[in-house]
Amino acid sequence: MQVIVLGGGLMGSATAFFLARRGIRVRLIERGHVGAGATVASFGNIRRTGRVLEQLPLAKRSLDLWSRAEELLGRDVEFRATGHLRLIFDEASRADMLRFAEAARPWGLELDQLEPAEIRRRFPGLGPSAIGASFSPRDGSANPRLVVPAFADAASRAGAEIIAHAGEPRIEKTEAGFKVRTTQGSFGADVLVNCAGAWGAEIARHFGEPVPLTAHGPQMGVTEPLPHRILPVVGIWSQDSGAYLRQVERGNVVFGGGVPRVPVAGTGFAQYDPAGLAVQLAKVVQLCPALADVTIIRQWSGCEGYLSDMLPVMGASGSTPGLFHAFGFCGHGFQLGPGVGDTMAELIATGTSATPIAAMSIARFAA
Ligand SMILES: Cc1cc2nc3c(=O)[nH]c(=O)nc-3n(C[C@H](O)[C@H](O)[C@H](O)COP(=O)(O)OP(=O)(O)OC[C@H]3O[C@@H](n4cnc5c(N)ncnc54)[C@H](O)[C@@H]3O)c2cc1C
Repeated sequence: MQVIVLGGGLMGSATAFFLARRGIRVRLIERGHVGAGATVASFGNIRRTGRVLEQLPLAKRSLDLWSRAEELLGRDVEFRATGHLRLIFDEASRADMLRFAEAARPWGLELDQLEPAEIRRRFPGLGPSAIGASFSPRDGSANPRLVVPAFADAASRAGAEIIAHAGEPRIEKTEAGFKVRTTQGSFGADVLVNCAGAWGAEIARHFGEPVPLTAHGPQMGVTEPLPHRILPVVGIWSQDSGAYLRQVERGNVVFGGGVPRVPVAGTGFAQYDPAGLAVQLAKVVQLCPALADVTIIRQWSGCEGYLSDMLPVMGASGSTPGLFHAFGFCGHGFQLGPGVGDTMAELIATGTSATPIAAMSIARFAA
């Protein structure tokens, strides 16, 4: 079997890696730089809290792989299981957290529920006005700049061919499978995997499977380096776009959320909207008052694909034998990446996957 994976983000590079480890011939084709799409812009949060419940088995598979990332990839991608603290500031959000914790337990996610005294004892300086919190000790973060190159290099060592700067590929269905014409040559395959992120809907449409995807840019920023004091990833439990932050080991505090995501125009370039910064910072300071007077050194965004039901598209095509999809991760794909790659490789190699992914099938949009 020869597989072509289209799109060299986290999903494509992880899929290529796990296929190559299974001994399957695989070529990863990226139109630009490997890892320069949504993944590099990511906040780097590896959290299961707050996910759509149907995603939790996939998130669990992924977390187990993140925990082994250094051994699997042969280098440190800065995965740290520092825990994920979600602070609560109002009763409606507390009720929401309790509902989620109850519903998530049968799916294997146990959340610690913290009262204010425990928050202050375990996490001094965080959320002084919080009325409660959830804490998920096995979750954490990794470095979005390191992870795709690490997966692509490891895939290459396992036998995958990585073709970057391929331009806009032209894709054809042939009798034998697929033909992909690029600026680096034409390549045939029995199986094509659509890992094109926010652009995955264009490939699906090409094969007669339109999906309701819109491209948006979450809003991110980073402070100057500060003494390292904040260990867990910290967020707000709220009904709106609650803010979140984490402090990297070098000391900078990365933050995001707190303002709506900005729509991305046809160019595919996401823009940071400076008008949101004051709102964003007010929420960041609610999480950690000591950040009130720090200097922001950079702001950015990234182009991510969102489906109308906030679930990605994952699994076999409904229209074209040999075509598979893994795109549109709705702002949650960084955590899922290794699990998506492993599950897609299993599905392609064996025709089935141990992790349930039916809720993410493209067939849900067929009607
Ligand atoms: C600002 C921001 C913050 C985020 N924070 C988090 C977070 O904290 N936690 C979390 O879990 N998730 C987060 N996410 C979401 C997560 O980063 C994405 O879901 C994930 O990285 C998507 O990976 P991908 O491989 O599907 O897409 P991408 O990384 O965008 O990769 C897709 C690749 O496909 C290529 N491509 C497109 N069309 C073609 C084509 N026709 N042929 C060849 N190549 C093509 C693109 O050039 C691109 O390199 C965030 C996203 C953004 C934008």
